Amino acid sequence: MKTVTAVTGTDAENGEDIRRKDRAHVFHSWSAQAQIDPLPIAGALGSYFWDYDGNRYLDFSSQLVNVNIGHQHPKLISAIQEQAGKLTTIAPLFANDARSEAARLISELAPGDLNKVFFTNGGAEANENAIRMARLHTGRAKVLAAYRSYHGSTAGAIALTGDPRRWPSEPTMSGVVRYWGPYSYRSAFHAADDSEECERALTHLRDIITVEGPHTIAAIILEPVVGTNGILVPPENYLPGVRALCDEFGIVFIVDEVMSGFGRCGEWFAVDRWNVTPDLITFAKGSNSGYVPLGGVIISEEIARTFDDRPYPGGLTYSGHPLACASAVASINIFHEEGIVENARALGRDVIGPQLRALAERHPSVGEVRGLGVFWALELVVDRKTRQPLVPFNATGAAAAPMVEFANACKSRGLWPFTHFNRTHIVPPCTTTADEVREGIDILDEALAVADKHYTG
Ligand code: PLP
Repeated sequence: MKTVTAVTGTDAENGEDIRRKDRAHVFHSWSAQAQIDPLPIAGALGSYFWDYDGNRYLDFSSQLVNVNIGHQHPKLISAIQEQAGKLTTIAPLFANDARSEAARLISELAPGDLNKVFFTNGGAEANENAIRMARLHTGRAKVLAAYRSYHGSTAGAIALTGDPRRWPSEPTMSGVVRYWGPYSYRSAFHAADDSEECERALTHLRDIITVEGPHTIAAIILEPVVGTNGILVPPENYLPGVRALCDEFGIVFIVDEVMSGFGRCGEWFAVDRWNVTPDLITFAKGSNSGYVPLGGVIISEEIARTFDDRPYPGGLTYSGHPLACASAVASINIFHEEGIVENARALGRDVIGPQLRALAERHPSVGEVRGLGVFWALELVVDRKTRQPLVPFNATGAAAAPMVEFANACKSRGLWPFTHFNRTHIVPPCTTTADEVREGIDILDEALAVADKHYTG
């Protein structure tokens, strides 16, 4: 799609200066501050980024799975520059052309009658507001959220999160009840196949609704394809089944498309693949590839009507920020013009999926390959029969060493991987070319030798 220019920055001194100031003054996310050494980045283009020492990396992480349109798309940059020259900021209480058009375009893409958009600065705030809307709309308090999920790190969003990132923030917001979603490879239901997994996961969810009291439950929230916690693609009937349960019990169905939306799954929204219409969709990341912070909630007519004559009790100074909205408008238009969703779908079907399956034939440590679009995982194991993970759940320090070694083997060969627990996720930009994917998979092929060394099966 794009040709990548030669690495430009080799100014190691400049890189060192940035590193020094970073270490002195920047407080980083999720990290023991004294134990990290963030790599100074000099630039990026398309599917690559590079450091100040002349090392270039093929981005198989899309940063935090958000740069769906690729790095430094020139038309997206121009749109931001143009908007900056016109109107950089205006309070949410006014109407604004970029905001109106972004909301119109996003509503047009969303399924069913989800026709209104509340803009936020990112995914966590989107989920906070979705819960607030669901609670006020139903007059109920509880929210059912899945184990193996991530919904953000603000107070409510971390309470919804079903992974170890929640633990240090406990006790959290009350009213969250947890359930297991489907995951055939490591079934919580001892299911033999996808269809049994689906049936049992839905029965389990129904049982939880029954014993919690349906009249106390405001919402069920889920990632339609679970992202960081494993690229868990649901069995065929699962999402329609959850929709039916929500309908039966008057529960708001919130779908968190922060990671799965805007092309990542080879669809505009992951739910499109199963023809499911939720009541609220939360989005962020791929909506404008994070060129300017943006997120939001797409709202059904029925829930929006709740706030026709009753004020919605939530807001943000930067809700519907013109720079962010102009970049969303431009990004959606570029997606249409360049067939980016279709590219993501075809890459998954014709290139990534087949090539990862071929890798699995060669490497015993690959326990399972799963995914769709540009959203894939290799689950690494030490034994295919027992499915024992390459590293234990939530491993740190020496226990996590095999995965660190694997990631380093990728980086030293020019590939920036996304790793989580015992998995590597293959999540490049939706604009990546087939040749770039092949380049990355060749590197994974070499790096997997590291994982194979630990194989005991
Ligand atoms: N929801 C999902 C599914 C995510 O993957 C993330 C971030 O990774 C979030 C919510 C939180 O988004 P943000 O970091 O923009 O607050």
